[in-house]
Amino acid sequence: MQKCDITNLPDAEFSFIPENAPKFATYTLKNFRNIQQLKHLPEDVVSAIAVVGHVFPFKVNSYVTEKLIDWGNAPNDPIFTLTFPQKGMLLPHHYEIVQALLAENAPKSKLAKAINQIREELNPHPAGQLEFNVPKLNGQKIDGLQHKYNETALFFPSEGQSCHAYCTYCFRWPQFGENDDLKIATNQIENVIAYLKHHTEISDVLITGGDPLTMSAKSLSKYVLALLSEDLPHIRTIRIGTKTLTYWPYRFLTEKDSEQLLDAFRMIVRSGKHLALMTHFNHPVELETPEVAEAIQRIRETGAVIRTQSPIIRGINDDAKIWSALWKRQVSLGLVPYYMFIPRDTGAQHFFRISLVRAWEIFKEAYQHVSGICRTVRGPSMSTNPGKVQVMGVCEVNGQKVISLQFLQGRNPDWVLRPFFAEFSESAFWLSELSPAFGQESFFYEEELAELTKPIEDDCLEAVC
Ligand SMILES: *Cc1c(COP(=O)(O)O)cnc(C)c1O
Ligand code: SF4
Repeated sequence: MQKCDITNLPDAEFSFIPENAPKFATYTLKNFRNIQQLKHLPEDVVSAIAVVGHVFPFKVNSYVTEKLIDWGNAPNDPIFTLTFPQKGMLLPHHYEIVQALLAENAPKSKLAKAINQIREELNPHPAGQLEFNVPKLNGQKIDGLQHKYNETALFFPSEGQSCHAYCTYCFRWPQFGENDDLKIATNQIENVIAYLKHHTEISDVLITGGDPLTMSAKSLSKYVLALLSEDLPHIRTIRIGTKTLTYWPYRFLTEKDSEQLLDAFRMIVRSGKHLALMTHFNHPVELETPEVAEAIQRIRETGAVIRTQSPIIRGINDDAKIWSALWKRQVSLGLVPYYMFIPRDTGAQHFFRISLVRAWEIFKEAYQHVSGICRTVRGPSMSTNPGKVQVMGVCEVNGQKVISLQFLQGRNPDWVLRPFFAEFSESAFWLSELSPAFGQESFFYEEELAELTKPIEDDCLEAVC
C-alpha cells in the first residue's frame, strides 16, 4: 500500500515569496509614460491613453503592469483592456475635441469645461441615481446608504471610495473624479446604524465603493464594530465588495496592517455572522499569481467566504472558454461563483457591450461545460430600475421566437422568478431595448413599477463590487 505523505504534497499554489513583489508604484495620467513596457507600443495607442484618460478615471499600479498584463499581447491583452483607456471608449467626435485641446495646450479651464460637457453626454448619473434608493429616517436623507431590495442595504463608507486601479468599463466612474456632486459616501455611521436598527427586514449590509479595502484596517474595524452592535441582531451577513485580490493582493500579505485587516474579518466570523467577500474577477489571469493564491488562502483561514462576480465585457471576457476556465479556477481556489452581469448603459458602454442574446449564448456554453459545483453562478443579469433581470434564453412559443426573462431581484419581491417574454431581438443590449412579446403593450411589472417609483423615475447603482 502506498503511504500517504502530506509533507510531500506539491506546494505550487502557495509559493509566494515576498521578495518577488514589485516595488509599489502607482500610475496615473501624470506619470504613466514612465511605464517601461509602453515604450514598445505604437504611439497612437499611448496617446489615446492620455486623451481618453482625461474623461474617464485612470489609475494602474506595478502589480498589474508587472504580474498581470502580458505585454506581448498588448494592446489586445485582456488586463491591458481592463485597465488602460482605449481610443474607442470615446465617440469619435468626443475624441477629436479632447485630442485637439491637448494638442493646442489649451488652458485648464477650457479643457475642464469640454471634458465636463462630454461626461454629461455619457449618462453619468442616470436620472435620480444620487437620490433614488437613498433612504430616509425621520424625513432626513441618509447619505452613503442605499436600500433598494428588502433584505440588503448598500453602505458607501467615505474612506473607501477609490480603488487600487480603475476598470475601464466601471459604471461608477463619476464617483472617482473631483466632482463631489456625483459622489455617494458617508462617515456618519450613527445615522446608518439608526436606519438599520429601524429596518429589521434588512439581513445583509454590503459595504461597497469604490473598493472599501482601500481603507485602513482601523477605519474598516470602526465600521464593522458598529455593525456588530447588539442593537442589530437582524443583520446576519456582512458583505464587502472588493477587487483588491486582483489589483493589490499585497493588501492581505505584506502591508503594515494586513494582519489587522484579517483580524477584522475574524471578528465578524466569530461574532456568529456570515462574512462574504464579494470579489470581482473578469479573467482567469487574475487568479494565476502566487500572490493571489496566498491572499485567498489567508482570507479563507479567517472563515470568510469569497464569492465572485463579473460583468461580461467585449475584448476582455466575451468568450465561453474564458468563463468556464474562470469558474473552474475559482472553485479550485475555494471561491463561490455568484453573478455574471451585463454592463449597464453609461460611460463607454458602447465600446464594451455585447448583445443580450450573445451574452446568454456565452453563459450557456460556459455553464454547459462545468460541473454542478460551479453552477452557483447566475446570469447573465441586468441591474435595471425594476430589478435584476436574468436573460433565461431564446425559445419558441407557438411558432414565435421570443426571449425569456425573469427577475432575480425585484423592487417588488413578488416579481421574482416569474418568467416573462420579450420579442426576439439580436440587437438589444438592455432591458429598455426589448418589447413585450405576443402583442402585449407592456411587461407585467410596468404598471406597478410606475407606482413604486413615483415621483422619481430612474435608476440605482448596481453592486458589481
Ligand atoms: C445586486 C444588488 C443587491 C444585492 O442583491 P443580491 O441578489 O442579494 O446579491 C443589493 N442592492 C442593489 C442595489 C443591487 O444592485
Ligand atoms: S468596477 Fe469596481 S474595482 Fe473596478 S473601478 Fe469600478 S468600483 Fe473600482
